[in-house]
Amino acid sequence: MADSPEVLVIGGGSTGCGIARDLAMRGLDVTLVEKGNLTHGTTGRMHGLLHSGGRYAVSDQASARECIEEARVLSDIASHCVEMTGGLFVQRPEDPDEYFHEKLKGCRECDIPAKVLSSTEARKQEPYLASDIQRAIEVPDGAIDPFRLCVANAASAEQHGARIETHAEVTDVLVEGSDVVGCEVRHESGPGKRVHQSSGTTEKIRADYVVNATGAWAGQIGELAGVDIEVRPSKGVMVIMNVRQVDTVINRCRPKGDADIIVPHETTAILGTTDEEVADPEEYPEEQWEVDLMIDELSELVPILKSARTIRSFWGVRPLYEPPGTGTTDPTDITRDFFLLDHEERDDLRGMTSIVGGKFTTYRMMAEKISDHVCEQFGINTRCRTAQESLPGSDDFDVLREYMEEFGLRSPIGRRSVQRLGSRADEVLKTDRPNPVICECEAVTRAEIQDAIGQSGSDLNAVRIRTRASMGNCQGGICCHRMASELYPDYDESTARAALDELYQERWKGQRHALWGEQLSQAMLNHLLHATTMNRDSDPAHDGTVDFQAFDTGATIKDHNSTEGSSSSGDEEGEHAN
Ligand SMILES: Cc1cc2nc3c(=O)[nH]c(=O)nc-3n(C[C@H](O)[C@H](O)[C@H](O)COP(=O)(O)OP(=O)(O)OC[C@H]3O[C@@H](n4cnc5c(N)ncnc54)[C@H](O)[C@@H]3O)c2cc1C
Repeated sequence: MADSPEVLVIGGGSTGCGIARDLAMRGLDVTLVEKGNLTHGTTGRMHGLLHSGGRYAVSDQASARECIEEARVLSDIASHCVEMTGGLFVQRPEDPDEYFHEKLKGCRECDIPAKVLSSTEARKQEPYLASDIQRAIEVPDGAIDPFRLCVANAASAEQHGARIETHAEVTDVLVEGSDVVGCEVRHESGPGKRVHQSSGTTEKIRADYVVNATGAWAGQIGELAGVDIEVRPSKGVMVIMNVRQVDTVINRCRPKGDADIIVPHETTAILGTTDEEVADPEEYPEEQWEVDLMIDELSELVPILKSARTIRSFWGVRPLYEPPGTGTTDPTDITRDFFLLDHEERDDLRGMTSIVGGKFTTYRMMAEKISDHVCEQFGINTRCRTAQESLPGSDDFDVLREYMEEFGLRSPIGRRSVQRLGSRADEVLKTDRPNPVICECEAVTRAEIQDAIGQSGSDLNAVRIRTRASMGNCQGGICCHRMASELYPDYDESTARAALDELYQERWKGQRHALWGEQLSQAMLNHLLHATTMNRDSDPAHDGTVDFQAFDTGATIKDHNSTEGSSSSGDEEGEHAN
């Protein structure tokens, strides 16, 4: 064993990145491997709600208490990832009075500040609420950016010496006798920067301890190690609207049901969700009726949603876990609590622990518990500091400063950039070069794009999750190719082209259930732009000889079956929250 224990963390979602940060801060030698991008799994496909705990105040008070505690910590250590929007539990005429009272009582029992608003008061705060709502309970819910938070945890882990490997899939767990001694990892190809190995190679990473933080995939890692982990993956749909129809998180105040939350998220509002058990965390049906259900049900709370524009939809899979023998049939009844499975105690397999269940809101607490457990294995007493030390970008960021003048950026571009970058704004935005806006919808400038390329290499989906470029109203129609051109001259033309194709595919995927009304017009406009200016429907350079005439014929070109076109759904990169 080396001086400090070597720990291999599998999974680059919020849990894995949180664990990597915590262990690295305590001085352990950490490697994290993630098969896709950071946030490739459930973390990049969640609702974006920083739970006050109000949602669980009746059904699961232990989780409710954890949520309020962690929401307070996160709004402190990750202020640039959190928007404290506040939340309302809204009662409609058909929703039971008893439940409203139970909710209020539950919140108070769990130390969640809760105040009753009359219908008039609630509608004054949120004018688009339906005119027949009865009343509401105000709670301190918030919105959180899962991408920014996850990346900030990984960045902090790296600052403390951790090695973070994306596009590195665990293909085997190395077991010697009854000890786990590491994993075999395959380094995938892709345009992004690879930290150590070159793509297509495999590497045996030996470690003194392995942490399985693969969420809904935990059972698959268990299988590789020869142990059973009873994950019950449960899918949920979310639908993204073009603007924020509400500025407060709106919850329906009823016992349980689908489609009962609207989260204002950055420039959009996200409707959700459902809860349906699936066999496989990656292969499951995505159906139009699920999208329709969100709009039908939630427009009972906010009627304007019926006529608003939907820009995309996406699905995520909860990593729910039930101890063996519990046998719950309805996935909505499975606990949202998290479990630490020490495979030595459970399966006589030393050197590996899995962490399953839980919520994004409580990721830090989960990471602390498992890091305590890992440290205990090595007799290390160092205390956890993740609740006190700010994440990169969040230091001293209590007041949103006026940056327009300082960086020569006009509001709201300066304001939005500073919101995203937090205390890193000076470092990123102070540039002598021209700093034009690359993504108008999300107000992202060249300096921010260049900063993200510096962090993540030529993988434009990694640039996207760091900056939000291409995540707004036009879904990348105007900015994808500008992002690709920012790769030059550090990357060559074929790398930029491959990166652009991956980004196009990823942007297209989430739009197929939103193709009606105005979003259909937007998709058609994007297609024409990409087809005529970028020749993505029939690439004249594809065969080596350039057909210059094709640049003029564009979208009407005869050969419409090209697989290069932007109208192929593609599947190479995971869906993300918008
Ligand atoms: C529809 C929905 C809405 C939700 N909304 C909210 C919400 O609003 N608020 C909230 O607090 N929580 C919410 N949650 C819950 C929350 O999103 C999850 O609990 C949390 O993101 C799980 O994070 P994780 O890191 O444990 O798992 P993941 O984010 O799934 O991370 C696991 C990672 O492991 C990787 N991996 C898998 N296999 C391998 C392998 N062989 N090798 C290497 N890497 C591998 C995956 O690619 C993945 O990135 C929601 C969940 C769903 C499904």
